[in-house]
Amino acid sequence: MRSRWSYIHVWICVFILEAFRTFGIPSNEVNLLDSRSVIGDLGWVAYPKNGWEEIGEVDENYAPIHTYQVCKVMEHNQNNWLQTNWILNQGAQRVFVELKFTLRDCNSLPGGLGTCKETFNVYYYESNDEERRNIRESQLTKIDTIAADESFTELDLGDRVLKLNTEVRDLGPLTKKGFYLAFQDLGACIALVSVRVFYKKCPLVVRNLALFKDTITGADSSQLLEVSGTCVNNSLADELPRMHCSAEGEWLVPIGRCLCQVGHEEVNGSCQVCKLGFYRSALQTKSCSKCPPRSFTTVEASTSCQCEQGYYRTESDPTNMACTKPPSAPRNSISNVNETSVFLEWSAPEQTGGRKDVNYNILCRKITAGLGQYEPCGSHVRYLPQQTGLRNTSVMVVDLLAHTNYTFEVEAVNGVSELTAPLRQYVSLNVTTNQAAPSPITVVKKGKTAKNSIAVSWQEPNRPNGIILEYEIKYFEKDQETSYTIIKSKETEILVDGLKPSSAYIFQIRARTSAGYGGFSRCFEFETNPSLAASSEQGQVPIIAVAVTVGIILVALVTGFLMSGRRCGYSKAKQDPDEEKMHFHNGHIKFPAVRTYIDPHTYEDPNQAVHEFAKEIDVCGITIERVIGAGEFGEVCSGLLRLPGKREIPVAIKTLKAGYTEKQRREFLGEASIMGQFDHPNIIHLKGVVTKSKPVMIITEYMENGSLDTFLKKNDGQFTVIQLVGMLRGIASGMLYLSEMGYVHRDLAARNILVNSNLVCKVSDFGLSRVLEDDPEAAYTTRGGKIPIRWTAPEAIAYRKFTSASDVWSYGIVMWEVMSYGERPYWEMSNQDVIKAVEENYRLPGPMDCPTALYQLMMDCWQKDRNSRPKFEEIVSLLDKHIRNPSSLKNLVNPSNRVSNLLVEHGSPEGCVFRSVEEWLEAIKMGRYTKLFMESGFTSLEIVTQMTLEDLRRVGVSLAGHQKKILNSIQEMRVQMMNSTLPI
Ligand code: AMP
Repeated sequence: MRSRWSYIHVWICVFILEAFRTFGIPSNEVNLLDSRSVIGDLGWVAYPKNGWEEIGEVDENYAPIHTYQVCKVMEHNQNNWLQTNWILNQGAQRVFVELKFTLRDCNSLPGGLGTCKETFNVYYYESNDEERRNIRESQLTKIDTIAADESFTELDLGDRVLKLNTEVRDLGPLTKKGFYLAFQDLGACIALVSVRVFYKKCPLVVRNLALFKDTITGADSSQLLEVSGTCVNNSLADELPRMHCSAEGEWLVPIGRCLCQVGHEEVNGSCQVCKLGFYRSALQTKSCSKCPPRSFTTVEASTSCQCEQGYYRTESDPTNMACTKPPSAPRNSISNVNETSVFLEWSAPEQTGGRKDVNYNILCRKITAGLGQYEPCGSHVRYLPQQTGLRNTSVMVVDLLAHTNYTFEVEAVNGVSELTAPLRQYVSLNVTTNQAAPSPITVVKKGKTAKNSIAVSWQEPNRPNGIILEYEIKYFEKDQETSYTIIKSKETEILVDGLKPSSAYIFQIRARTSAGYGGFSRCFEFETNPSLAASSEQGQVPIIAVAVTVGIILVALVTGFLMSGRRCGYSKAKQDPDEEKMHFHNGHIKFPAVRTYIDPHTYEDPNQAVHEFAKEIDVCGITIERVIGAGEFGEVCSGLLRLPGKREIPVAIKTLKAGYTEKQRREFLGEASIMGQFDHPNIIHLKGVVTKSKPVMIITEYMENGSLDTFLKKNDGQFTVIQLVGMLRGIASGMLYLSEMGYVHRDLAARNILVNSNLVCKVSDFGLSRVLEDDPEAAYTTRGGKIPIRWTAPEAIAYRKFTSASDVWSYGIVMWEVMSYGERPYWEMSNQDVIKAVEENYRLPGPMDCPTALYQLMMDCWQKDRNSRPKFEEIVSLLDKHIRNPSSLKNLVNPSNRVSNLLVEHGSPEGCVFRSVEEWLEAIKMGRYTKLFMESGFTSLEIVTQMTLEDLRRVGVSLAGHQKKILNSIQEMRVQMMNSTLPI
């Protein structure tokens, strides 16, 4: 009976095993025991011996199959035990038991129902060692009672239908090294086909570049074990990588991660080096990047790329930015001088070096007068908005010294410039500042004070902008502002007297240089001491009586003084001969000061005149250095003069050549007699004469730049309009002084103006005989006088009416000379033609690039009616206005307006002034390019009028100033040609 059942079972089991052999075990399960894989006997212990029995078979592959069967369904009180071998739990605290079995349906058993069971029990027993004995029932822990989901019948056997049950139970927590399983049968018909004991693990895995080792699940079925991972090669933890191993052997909830080190990138879960030409610099970037432009790598695993030669990267440049280089120099720099301020403007460099952080630094250097040496501009110079790191292409430089040559370097820099130092990319500009009024005085102090006087002292203004000629001290009694007194002083202190005792006075002081007055200082309030009498009651009456008496006497004296007819009462100050005092009421001068020129002819003995107006100098103090010119009476030299107790100064020395006549000597020294009467910053200053030894000499201040006409020709186009106007202003100011002195110059021309190193212009050439023997420009008129025709007003030519108004005419011609950089007035026209043209009301045209306002002033100076001409005073104030407001000079003479009637008189039949390219270039002082024009095919004026800037460059005209000059002239020619073809 039993063997028959067994046979059936085995047969079925083979069938079943064939089915489940095809499945492997899941990767997260580790078998501790698998009865199917045991080769040989399982060696399990059954008791009683006739209970469970092992059936050993082989499958079709001859692999052994071990099954245990029991089927004592017909017998009562069955208690059959089957005990496994000791199973090492390998550290697992929780293990699973998978049972595969078949169970016979009791209902299908004939007559066995009373005792037949359909379940069996599973137990376990833990131990640290293998115990070679039967375990007592009481020592066992029950796992479960196992029932079959499916039981089989006879019928099933016939149909060969498989009814294999699989049941899995878990046990734990296990605390010992191993355990036994025991199966209890209480009278069922069971075939235990396989027993598999396993634990679960979370298998080794690499997640987010972190390696998580095999991890045995926890003891608890709901336990999540937190496991730390380790970063794979060439990676590092961004945040400590962790995962959770569930009881089911699944990895859950990854936290943190590893990232490939720089120079590496993640490829399929591992970190690989960046190849040549690639780099990875930051953990945040995912993969290696190609080297940015202008950079490369020489090794693998690069974290950055090296810049090619000549290219750079700053520390703050991102590694993915192309390597860059410093910018090229700024371009098209221009300067605009306004007194002591310079506005510098330039264009951005052609090459920014590939960067956006181009900015500019200004380097300012002062050129030491005469020496041509450079020195830093000093900290007093201010830069608006700043000196360095300029983002805009302009800067305003203020508080420069007046009349000083500066050179500015505008340097373009970017982030990598300092890596290439000392190679600097800059453009330089040379600038000469104009004259400017001194800055206001800021420090005024009260000195010794008495009841009627206050000593006041002050400090030179911070920026004198020239030599301070004098100070003007304005004061008034507090709250009596409309009635003030002005004192002039050459010193920086003064004792102001005639004040009321115990009274507050307001003082304001300003300085004057050749450029005019600076602003007044702020108001300083000082008080006189109380009258001594006031402090003594008894003494008061008699002192007041004395004061009144003195007052009456004083009034009488003053009245007498005024009645005496001394003109306008100009009074030298009492304190110091250098001080002048004027009183004002409601802004009107009460006592103006005027000095007049005395004609040396009025002296019977001309020598007396010389010694009246000129100081005799000891020849020992004079060192002659070199000849600088030729005067009518002899050579003009430069040299040095050392006066006793004074420092050596450069001077010009005019000599009277040997063999002179007495008349010549008189005339020679006559100039000194005139010059010695003048004291003005725009009149050449006489230092003295040497008459007691030979040669006779006239010593004057030295003017480094010589005569104005030559100086302008030499520096054609080099000055700003404001600089030119500054020169004109100086000349006008000198002429105003001369006219106020009652001196008519008669030979005012650029050749008779001298220029010093600060561009200050001074009127010179004061010949005694105004027959102008010494002026090569002077020509004899029909009336016998020798007159510089081109510079002289028509009434002076016609009937020798020389006045300050005729000097104004000449001044207009000087303006024209200055604005055209020393051009000869009326060009090569003959004197006769000039006289005729002027009489017919023709006038010189506006010079090229001349502001309209200045040309208008010239034309005003050339009014036929001399009374309609402006006075020098008006000219000075008009020029001052222009200097203060340079934009008033922006409007330039329109080229078509420049085509004056005079030029038309000269013009060619086509309406063009010139007959050939050569003549035209010569006329605009660009004759040096004639050959280049011819060689480049620009041989006729028609072709020339089509020329562009590009053409000029091609021809070889590279200087911007010359290009401008030529193009302007071409534009004029075009206008002329157009006008001449227009129907009238
Ligand atoms: P004059 O005889 O005054 O016309 O002088 C002749 C030349 O000498 C002038 O054209 C100047 O070039 C030069 N000259 C005269 N005076 C001075 C001076 N004070 N400083 C410099 N150069 C002078």
